[in-house]
Amino acid sequence: MPHDLPKAYDPTAIEDHWAGYWVRENLFAVPTPDPATNSVQNQGPVCESDGQSPDAKSPFVILLPPPNVTGRLHMGHMLNQTEMDILTRWRRMSGRLALWVPGTDHAGIATQMMVERQLTEEGTSRQKLGREAFVERVWAWKRHYGGAILEQMKRLGVSVDWSREYFTMDERLSLAVREAFVRLYAQGLIYRGAYIVNWCPRCQTAISDLEVVHQEQKGHLWEIKYPVLGDGGKETGEFITVATTRPETMLGDTAVAIHPEDERYLHLHGKRLLLPLMDREIPIVVDPWVSREFGTGAVKVTPAHDPNDFDLGERHHLPSINVMDDRAQINENGGPYQGLDRYVARKKILADLEAQGLLGAIKDYTNNVGHCDRCKTVVEPRLSTQWFIAVNKKPNAGGESMAEKAIAAVKPDAGGNKAIRFTPENYEKIYLEWMTNIHDWCISRQLWWGHRIPAWHCGVCHKITVPQPGATDDPTACAHCGSDKITQETDVLDTWFSSGLLPVSVFGWPNFTSRTPGAPGPSHLGTGEGIEDRADFDAFYPTSLLVTGFDILFFWVARMIMLGCWFAGDVPMPDGSPRSLAESVPFKEVYIHALVRDANREKMSKTKGNVIDPIEIVKQYGTDAVRFTLASMASPGTDIAFNVARTEGYRAFANKIWNAARFIFMNVNRAQEAGVRVESSWFTTPPQLSNTSPIEELWIMSRLNRTAHDVNLALEKYRFDDAANFIYQFFWGEFCDWYLEIVKLRLNFGETDDNSTAVNALATLLYVFDSSLRMLSPIMPFITEEIWHSLRDGSPPAKSIALTRYPVGDRNNVDNEVLLEMGQLKNLIEELRSIRKDLSVPDSEAVPGYVLDVNIGRASHNPVENLWGPITSAGRLISRNAQIVERLARVRPIQLVGSQERFGTLSDLFWRQGMFDLAIAYEKKIDATAERERLTRDIAKYEKGLAAAERQLGNEGFLAKAPAHVVEGLKRQEAETRLLLEKARAALAALLPE
Ligand SMILES: [Zn+2]
Ligand SMILES: [Zn+2]
Repeated sequence: MPHDLPKAYDPTAIEDHWAGYWVRENLFAVPTPDPATNSVQNQGPVCESDGQSPDAKSPFVILLPPPNVTGRLHMGHMLNQTEMDILTRWRRMSGRLALWVPGTDHAGIATQMMVERQLTEEGTSRQKLGREAFVERVWAWKRHYGGAILEQMKRLGVSVDWSREYFTMDERLSLAVREAFVRLYAQGLIYRGAYIVNWCPRCQTAISDLEVVHQEQKGHLWEIKYPVLGDGGKETGEFITVATTRPETMLGDTAVAIHPEDERYLHLHGKRLLLPLMDREIPIVVDPWVSREFGTGAVKVTPAHDPNDFDLGERHHLPSINVMDDRAQINENGGPYQGLDRYVARKKILADLEAQGLLGAIKDYTNNVGHCDRCKTVVEPRLSTQWFIAVNKKPNAGGESMAEKAIAAVKPDAGGNKAIRFTPENYEKIYLEWMTNIHDWCISRQLWWGHRIPAWHCGVCHKITVPQPGATDDPTACAHCGSDKITQETDVLDTWFSSGLLPVSVFGWPNFTSRTPGAPGPSHLGTGEGIEDRADFDAFYPTSLLVTGFDILFFWVARMIMLGCWFAGDVPMPDGSPRSLAESVPFKEVYIHALVRDANREKMSKTKGNVIDPIEIVKQYGTDAVRFTLASMASPGTDIAFNVARTEGYRAFANKIWNAARFIFMNVNRAQEAGVRVESSWFTTPPQLSNTSPIEELWIMSRLNRTAHDVNLALEKYRFDDAANFIYQFFWGEFCDWYLEIVKLRLNFGETDDNSTAVNALATLLYVFDSSLRMLSPIMPFITEEIWHSLRDGSPPAKSIALTRYPVGDRNNVDNEVLLEMGQLKNLIEELRSIRKDLSVPDSEAVPGYVLDVNIGRASHNPVENLWGPITSAGRLISRNAQIVERLARVRPIQLVGSQERFGTLSDLFWRQGMFDLAIAYEKKIDATAERERLTRDIAKYEKGLAAAERQLGNEGFLAKAPAHVVEGLKRQEAETRLLLEKARAALAALLPE
């Protein structure tokens, strides 16, 4: 039945094959459920092995955090996607309809920069090309290079629904972006205003706070003296000294601020100053925000170029004078410095101030300078006109603000219930704190690549026209004066505005039409008609889970919660009833995963050169081993120190499974040669157990049940590490190392006339192996798929192991007594093996073994005195399983003896006391003299080491100073030496006297 597996496990060959197969067969595609029955029709792929339809009523839905279309896979993606894939595959195999939606983000700034760089190389620029041609060029770039990261994902075997792949600039999603904007505008929640933004002079756009990277930079703090004016505007000869790290901004100063209670300046309240170089009069204002301790206690106020100054300017109704243009060159408001770059202007201003005797002290100063995350240019805080969402404002029609809703979605209600649950839990607090202090969201970007803002400026009355909600046509005339001289806003929307809408927009909101690309449907909402068009939304919203990194908690997670609650909240439930908050949230759970660091726990960075490329590691060890490595270390809140040595170990694990499969296939072949029909039901039907079943059968079934139960529980709690380690321990440590070794004894096809023992053994073996493969499959999908198909050669019950059932594990079927007995048996075998090793008995040589059982020969048998108490008798256990002990410990025969003395005269008996008192008889003549000499030497060495350790551990001074781990290590070493010493002494005593 199974076809042969190649001798050597070669991940590259099998992984490429299956990755292609899963995509080609569209295995993980989930069609829209039938709204009438809420079931998935012709849902071939999911869990077809038992003929049961997946449960469409509680689907498992997950969105891929869309990577940038410019992106390349890094270790963070690999971890993120491994975790999502494990969970999705596990839920799918557990009988739920599992939908994982992939896509890419158009990534405004990143993509525009990429193409601009190309243009520079070609000696042209986006300005020379013009907007339309440039955007066309970006699309061409996207078509050519854009899918790279998704191709990498395919190679990793992620079980996503490729038929639902989206791009945030798709027509369907763009319609949702436009509708969201016009609705918010109609609700009075979008406005245009002057605001201090982080301006990147290179990218020439506003960027969000989150896109600014702060870096410590050595600079200077320059003191500048501002002359105080007296009556009639005459200089009094007194100065106020201010300090600044950006002297060029003084051109835009409109006040100097002091603390109201600063005694140094009390006499200057209400006075005016002369702004040097610009000869402009500016007031002195008092504001408690000013720190008396910092610098001179007087600060220059430049509302157009500093966020704090902007707030201060608002409070004191100061004018804002913007002195720089888009490229951070001084503009017409900068007087004689117009046209100079900001840093050139800085030098000239300092020189001019010095010439006028107005430059004070210059101090070295390290400050945190904001840089553009994309191009690393120093960001210039700058006043500009931008579009905002008023996140704290109630909509025109009343009700909660966007932030209030987003808080309610996460905060526990009176009953302690949460609509969205964070894991690890501490992110709930971080989120709530951020959302409570949130400012208006600047959503405009001065880019060409992105969703252009659907607002039109009138050339006549200068008012703004935004289409009505639901209107799909662009306006042709000004809504205020009727003029046709209107032009569309040139800004585009922040990328996060569109990605924040994904949970609603990927399922058809607001157009609720079929998924056919390029077929916009009716733009009604919530009328109840056309309900069949909302089938995706009704079936899949809210999604179940979001798995993402901390870095985009505010960028993306918070925005999805804000926009999701806002827009989904307006969509009635399928039965027409209003939607509750719990049904409005974009996802019910958020799992924030940790960082992948290098083996020394250092953060990976290009500068340090310690970045691990997942594709390279995958090439070397196979995807399965890399996935298993990540899983084995992934648990909530713990960073992963990625160590290639571990991956090597898991590659060996895969190899072990491969070899186990080959051994099993060999036995299946032998069975068939002996005329046995291998039934396909054996793979999925658990064996009938009774108390006469062989111990290894009872034991492995108990362990399988227990492991499967524990693994399911671990995955529920995002304990990927526990799940992986349970499976590893079971598969390698128990199934391969013990069960296979024992069951070999019964797999004697063709050796006797009656094959029934062998048939039973094989049936159980196949059931346990198949279950183990299914249990491992979500973590190692490739090797399990390959072996499973080979195992079922010719008649697989499903197209993939991923579409079969996940082992549940029945805790009631765990026989603790058997677990204990098997533990004793393993112990006995290990002790016997250890004596053999100590005596260097050749592997090929079987020697007699003895186990002391004090009950033997006793008149009355008191179970309480028995070594194993009332649970079991070690003697009975051993005699019942003598064959196993003999085979695995290479002793023959194994015998129970009543007392040790009886054998004391045997010259070649070596007793060992441990959990058991046991001995082997080893006939080989040993050179007693040489052995005695060796042992004596060893004993002397151990005694010396022990004395030294004891001395050190008795030294109070040493103990007080030594680090804890050193003391621990020493104690451990002492204990180990003591054990070795005892062993050597016992061995010496066991040797015959001279
Ligand atoms: Zn930039
Ligand atoms: Zn007009």
